[in-house]
Amino acid sequence: MAKLSILKVKLEREVNGYVVTCSSTKEAVVIDPGLPVEKIAEQLKGLKVRYILATHCHPGHVAGKDDLKELVGGETGLHSADAKQFLRSADRYLLDGDELDFGEFKLTVLHTPGHTPGSVCFVVANHAFVGDTLLAGGIGKQTPETDLRRQMMSIGTKLLRLPLTTALYPGHGPASSLERELAQNPIFRGAPAPS
Ligand SMILES: [Zn+2]
Ligand SMILES: [Zn+2]
Repeated sequence: MAKLSILKVKLEREVNGYVVTCSSTKEAVVIDPGLPVEKIAEQLKGLKVRYILATHCHPGHVAGKDDLKELVGGETGLHSADAKQFLRSADRYLLDGDELDFGEFKLTVLHTPGHTPGSVCFVVANHAFVGDTLLAGGIGKQTPETDLRRQMMSIGTKLLRLPLTTALYPGHGPASSLERELAQNPIFRGAPAPS
């Protein structure tokens, strides 16, 4: 089985960008192309970039998308609801359930509206890139676009369906796992334990 490599790139506004690579084919996906793009591009030397994807369109998570594409190639992608909300365009508008291939891996798109209408999470094998939908110990900062009730519903109906051992890579702060967040994240306080 091919090996997956996940690299976190610390960007402006405390955003985590990620470079996810299939080690055997050197094909890569960039998640959350913030700024500066040079810092992301540095990590892409020798790799073939297939996709540049944004979990949502708050500027810190997407501002470098077009410049990065110019530098390293690849197809840009985001959800149409955020394209509308933030007047952004991309090569590809992502839909819930979309599967994007890179190397020997598959990235699955989950539409998880709430933090923004077009927030999405990306699942690769046992890893989930969750943007600002769920952070270690909390959730992303609420903004005028945030619909908290919808966000909690997305977490409950989409993220909690994933195996408990799923590793989480949020848009800010440290990595975690679904199991750890269920036990420790205050947003789950009072929620019934999953059966
Ligand atoms: Zn955000
Ligand atoms: Zn953010």
